[in-house]
Amino acid sequence: MKTAIYPGTFDPITNGHIDILKKAVRIFDKVILAVAEDTGKKTIFTVDEREELCRKAMEGIEKIEVTRFNGLVVDFAKKVGAITMIRGLRAISDFEYELSQALMNEKLYSDIDTIFFVPDNKYLYLSSTMVRQVVSLGGNIKDLIPECVEEALLKKRSKE
Ligand code: ADP
Repeated sequence: MKTAIYPGTFDPITNGHIDILKKAVRIFDKVILAVAEDTGKKTIFTVDEREELCRKAMEGIEKIEVTRFNGLVVDFAKKVGAITMIRGLRAISDFEYELSQALMNEKLYSDIDTIFFVPDNKYLYLSSTMVRQVVSLGGNIKDLIPECVEEALLKKRSKE
């Protein structure tokens, strides 16, 4: 049974993340989407909300399990028996950060490998930060985020 984990903040999950996950399940028997409880980043959604949105967005996609984790991602990987970590690579800007993370994780746990997937062209410049900004300013980006995420962002916006 080949299990991989896809860790991230997912604040919120976008179609770019989903594209990476769909590519990963073609190779692995199971992919665990792991929502980081605390990444040191200030998030607009709580961990409960981020996890719930991931769960809704993953409905109907087989072989994916949604959960959350705290602490070192390698410890979580060991706990669930995964030796592969999935990450997405967008424009060159992701490369340095992702490379340093992958090397550090390998130093902490030598059995773990990171596999990078490149998203479809239309998601190459998509980020959760951009999604939050555009929706908060009233922009319509329906085709870049799941419906549940759009609804959740609009709800947040109306409460501001
Ligand atoms: P983190 O805080 O761990 O970077 P994110 O939720 O921002 O969490 O991203 C998780 C992973 O998904 C990262 O590897 C990131 O590069 C990747 N990712 C984010 N958006 C996209 C996208 N549009 N296309 C492909 N990969 C993406």
